[in-house]
Amino acid sequence: MAENIRIIGDTLPGVDLNAPLLEVDDLGVEFKVRGKRIPAVRHASFTLERGRTLAVVGESGSGKSVTSQAIMGILDTPPARITHGRVLFHGVDLLELDEVTRRGVRANHISIVFQDALSALNPLWSVGFQIGELFRVHRGASRAEAKKRSIELLDLVGIPDAKNRVGHYPHQFSGGMRQRVMIAMALALDPEVLIADEPTTALDVTVQAQIMRLLKGIQEERNMGLILITHDLGVVADVADDVAVMYAGEVVERAGIRDTFKRPAHPYTKALLRAIPRVDQVGRELEVIKGLPPNPAKLPGGCPFHPRCFAADDKCRDEVPPWAEPAENHGSRCHYAEEVYVDER
Ligand code: SF4
Repeated sequence: MAENIRIIGDTLPGVDLNAPLLEVDDLGVEFKVRGKRIPAVRHASFTLERGRTLAVVGESGSGKSVTSQAIMGILDTPPARITHGRVLFHGVDLLELDEVTRRGVRANHISIVFQDALSALNPLWSVGFQIGELFRVHRGASRAEAKKRSIELLDLVGIPDAKNRVGHYPHQFSGGMRQRVMIAMALALDPEVLIADEPTTALDVTVQAQIMRLLKGIQEERNMGLILITHDLGVVADVADDVAVMYAGEVVERAGIRDTFKRPAHPYTKALLRAIPRVDQVGRELEVIKGLPPNPAKLPGGCPFHPRCFAADDKCRDEVPPWAEPAENHGSRCHYAEEVYVDER
């Protein structure tokens, strides 16, 4: 079914409402640094459906945030460049759109909450002005209407006394409250996809839990697709429906939440899970993943995880593992991915 959907007074042709809400298909991004091309994302593929939460997990430098910026169309180009792949929104490849149309999609349909709310908010304007500007610019709202909507949104994200707080500046809010303001801004135009890029990293544990509950609640209420970029598997276990694990710029495992935790197929996922501290294992030494993530400019040959992998052999050192799907909705980039399911056949 091909339809048009409205974006700021124009239409986005070719939309297929039967297609997945968002599909990232073999995305590649590189950066040009001092004349050298450095691959930051090499093979990122995953699908997000309406009403579901997809967690994109991995260590720093694995390509998670670059992938989210590529989806949003906010990469600095140059030095960044998308080398291959597609980002399909309702079947329309966003990478093929001109900048004006892309901006319309970004403003109205796909939104992002950044990690550091203090740098993302303008210190010179009240939070109400910054939220209201979205309604004025993209919906043609009057100042009074924009202010009213800003107060409603601040209320929605749990800012107490929103009527009064709407005139306050970012520095007058705590870290957790600033992150709520960022969420309010991201929700302002009622997006279908919300990307939350490490939204709780800078917050203490109690506030982290409150923010995640808020995001999950709003996602369910609005039936949005939520992409949660995180390195915290505890958060993933609480909120995600599906998981994509990234390593060295590739998605190395993709599965539903249950399979990810109960029968991970990639040794990197297994190692991440073993590195989670558990209250039922007091006294047991916490396992760590040996070594460091590879330098993207000097990736090891064969499987890029082999220098750190407990199961590596000669084949891993010599041959790049292909993507394999050992079971429905469960894929992995490991030579031995199938073995997870062998006992059950
Ligand atoms: Fe480990 Fe080999 Fe699988 Fe890579 S291909 S994850 S080195 S077992």
